[in-house]
Amino acid sequence: MKFTIEMPDVSACSVDRCAYNVRGACHAKAITVGDGVHPGCDTFTLSQRHTDGEVEAAGVGACKVAICKYNRELECEARSIEVDFDEDEAAATCTTFELA
Ligand code: SF4
Ligand code: SF4
Repeated sequence: MKFTIEMPDVSACSVDRCAYNVRGACHAKAITVGDGVHPGCDTFTLSQRHTDGEVEAAGVGACKVAICKYNRELECEARSIEVDFDEDEAAATCTTFELA
């Protein structure tokens, strides 16, 4: 089965130690964000090996961070998001997050 769903783009990700990262872009089909409070990328996969980058660009499939101003019914309504590594949290993190 094939789905066509409108999702916010992951426009950039600098977490190059993730398997889905190819040249600063995420090539998972869709990512999930959040453990409830911290806007971490749950799809982050630590790996030396990387996907081939054939998937054009990732979207945000779901986000569990209800306290973000872009979150509506546990989905992201931003136009696009960016992901970076948060050294304090030691986690790949959505930097588009803003407290509602
Ligand atoms: S950390 Fe998340 S957004 Fe970045 S490449 Fe990995 S899965 Fe994609
Ligand atoms: S912008 Fe907000 S709602 Fe969208 S993925 Fe990031 S934390 Fe979740």
